[in-house]
This record gives sequence, C-alpha cells and structure tokens, in this order.
Amino acid sequence: MKIAQVDGRACIVTEHGGVDVAAASDDRFGSTVDCLVGDLDALQHWFTAEAPQLDRSLSAEELLADLDRLGPPIASPPQIFAIGLNYEHHAAEANLDLPDQPMVFTKWQSSLAGPSSTIPLSSDTVDWEVELVAVIGAAGRNISVDAAMGHVAGLCIGQDVSDRRLQMASAPAQFSMAKSLENFSPIGPWLTTCDELRNPHDLAIACHRDGHALQESRTSSMIFDVPTLVAYLSSKVELRVGDLIFTGTPEGVGVGRRPRVFIEPGWQIESSIEGLGRMRNQFV
Ligand code: ZN
Repeated sequence: MKIAQVDGRACIVTEHGGVDVAAASDDRFGSTVDCLVGDLDALQHWFTAEAPQLDRSLSAEELLADLDRLGPPIASPPQIFAIGLNYEHHAAEANLDLPDQPMVFTKWQSSLAGPSSTIPLSSDTVDWEVELVAVIGAAGRNISVDAAMGHVAGLCIGQDVSDRRLQMASAPAQFSMAKSLENFSPIGPWLTTCDELRNPHDLAIACHRDGHALQESRTSSMIFDVPTLVAYLSSKVELRVGDLIFTGTPEGVGVGRRPRVFIEPGWQIESSIEGLGRMRNQFV
C-alpha cells in the first residue's frame, strides 16, 4: 500500500487512481497519514474489501508528474532520528573510521517539507544527502532485531539537506541545527509499506541534478540496516508511532569531493529510491 498526503488529505495511491481514505470510509479512518500510520493493517483490510467500488482520482504516475499536490507523508512525527556515517564509502569520503555503533542525531520537526518543496539556501555550503527514511508504526522499547520490521509502518525517501559551514561552526559539530533549517528535511512522495517491495533491505538509492548522478548506491550497503537501527534506538529510547528514522546517506556528497561542490541557486535535485518513487526539490 502507498499512502500519500494529497492536497492535505490522506489518500491510498494506486496505478489506477487514488482514494481519499476519510471520505471513502465515511470517516471510519482519519484524514491525515499521521493518524493512520499506527493502524495500517486495519486500513489494508478495509481497502482490500472495498477497493473495487471506491471512486478513484489521480494515479501514482499522475501524482509523480505533479508532486506539488503532495505534502510530507508524515507531518508531525513525535521524534525524528537521523544516523550519520551509515555507508562504508561515505565514512571513507568523510575521512572517518567506521562506527562500531550507530551515530545518532536528531532533525527538528519544523524542517519537514513535501517532495517538491522549494528549499532556501542558507549559505554557499549547502549539501545534499539522499536517504531512506523508515516510519515507525508501532511504539516500543527494547524491540528485538527479529521483531523490528513489525514496528516499521513503511518507508519513504528523504533528503538530509545540510549546511556544512553551520554544521562545523562549533566543536563538537552541531548536526541538528545545520540539518534543520527551513525545508531542509523534505520527505515523500508517500509512505510505501514493505510488502510492496521485493526486498526492502536492498533498494537502489540515488540523487541526480539535471540527469547527472550525484549519489548512486544500494541500501544493502548500509552498515546498520533498518532492523538493527530500530533495535538499537529502542534499546535506548522509546520509539513512538509516527517517528521517522533518516538512515544515513551513501557516498557522493559535495563536501566529500575534491574540489568541494555545494548547491547553487537554481539547482533542482531529484531523489529516488527503487519502489518508493521520487522527489524533486528546487533550491533558491
Ligand atoms: Zn544524513
């Protein structure tokens, strides 16, 4: 199942058209993805039973062509976790040793944005980081690796946009501030449940500028995979329904290049993950 926030309302997206969840269910289900994400099994059962007779509007392809109608699939996550240095080659380009446990920081909620949001450049050192984002659907502490995917509602694409100068303006580095400026956390285009994916742990992940690849990798190259991250985080803190986990970026960021490259006004960056769709963000 793919669930998007279309024109401010939760819609199940299919190739044959979208279904407004609250309207089609006579308000049995809520009108935002935030209030559905803890109850996706019930929603799936209802949709499977009712699907043939429901009115449809825009299809997945039509929405991908017109991303402006989509908001962030989760607008008010209780917590946003992000993981640094979670791909081997990214750690190498950052000249840092591989971590022996996840390196965790937080992105602030006010930086969330939709999949076509325009992102103001805060300086001439703003960088791209395409990431797989896991959305928590069942709360818990001390979740085992084996049980972890049962706590994941689904996946979406994220960009962990980062102002490198601000990040390094203090020591230790201030990740949260530098990665939480206006619209610095676009997510989307929708939440995809893992049953839609052949292998949710091995997806092509990329971002492009004008057709040129900036980053290209596979999520199977993560050092700590999604179940390991869920188990690790929940061993320390309580995970809550709607929480987001930005799972780290692969190699190819601008700060790792020689010479360094940063985003310039007018750039459009397209971020994509196999099976999850794509986002297009304009920088000004
Ligand atoms: Zn990141």
